[in-house]
Amino acid sequence: MSTTTDPPVYRDRLSRAQAAMRGAGIDVLLVGPSADLRYLTGIDAHLSERLNLLVVPAEGEVGFVVPRLEAPNVASHASILTLHVWDETDAPAELAARVVGGDASVAAVGDHLYSVFLLRLQTALPGTRWEPSGPLLRDLRMHKDATELDALREAARQTDAAWAEFLEGGPISGLTEREAMDRLMALTTKRGLATGFGICASGPNSASPHYHTGERVIEEGDSVVFDWGGVHQGYHSDMTRTVFVGQPTEEYRRVYETVRTANEAAFAAVRPGVACDEVDRAARDVITAAGYGDHFIHRLGHGLGLDVHEEPYLISGNRLPLAAGMVFSDEPGIYLAGNLGVRIEDTVVCTETGAERVNGAPRDLTVMD
Ligand code: ZN
Ligand code: ZN
Ligand code: ZN
Repeated sequence: MSTTTDPPVYRDRLSRAQAAMRGAGIDVLLVGPSADLRYLTGIDAHLSERLNLLVVPAEGEVGFVVPRLEAPNVASHASILTLHVWDETDAPAELAARVVGGDASVAAVGDHLYSVFLLRLQTALPGTRWEPSGPLLRDLRMHKDATELDALREAARQTDAAWAEFLEGGPISGLTEREAMDRLMALTTKRGLATGFGICASGPNSASPHYHTGERVIEEGDSVVFDWGGVHQGYHSDMTRTVFVGQPTEEYRRVYETVRTANEAAFAAVRPGVACDEVDRAARDVITAAGYGDHFIHRLGHGLGLDVHEEPYLISGNRLPLAAGMVFSDEPGIYLAGNLGVRIEDTVVCTETGAERVNGAPRDLTVMD
């Protein structure tokens, strides 16, 4: 399923990529199955041991190297690219090298290509210098067009609605983290989103930001972090809400209010021209002033689109200025090891005049049974 099946969208993206290549002195761009591939062509392929490879020259015809058994999947894209089909007993990296041609002195290669493919391509193209494609494609990927923004808004809207229904859906104490997450994800996919990812971290586990949802039983006195998302036309939602089971402690209230204030301070700092690290600092200053600076152990946020984590990264030291159309998370957290964690995450769009939150679920302190 593609965001749009409209070939002009992809022709335009490919020709903008080619213009960027000419500006950067890159002769050929090689992209395997990834969000980059989907962005440029609409092709939603999966990495496997069989080589699929987009071959974009700086000028002229775009090619796609594909195994014969997968060629039917991409036949509908033939109006924007030429298929180069290989058979089971062929050497696909050598076919790719022939498609590239002999005169590519600089190749940009996608971030998500298996290293085994890159090694074979390097052998097949011995005179070529290799660079990562990230810097080349990030300008395109970061600036979302109206269709992309609509898809992100729809994913966020349905995720909000799932959360509202989850809060009304009865107690979570007595459920395992996995059971609670399954309930929330079922409400999310029921609204037409494809399954994204889900973290439910309860009690002391909530102090681990990328905790792997497990079998711990949620009980009274727990802080419970839900961080999850679904996918609409390839575009992700990513939201975090933290609830308390039972009567919140003073410490929890203090931590929660600090995180909420930090989330809002970062949101208020977003506008075109402001550097990514200034938005991170707006949240970090709030948390540091409250005495929890050492417990905000990750960057403020990450870009969101066809990938859950993509550019721009809102992190100390990133001087990239925000621009209208950039989409990213605003997700400060405080993690007290062995005790509790709180994170509040919204998806934010930088607009011409400031910022828009695409998810609207309340950020008030919330109690569940
Ligand atoms: Zn994360
Ligand atoms: Zn998240
Ligand atoms: Zn996130």
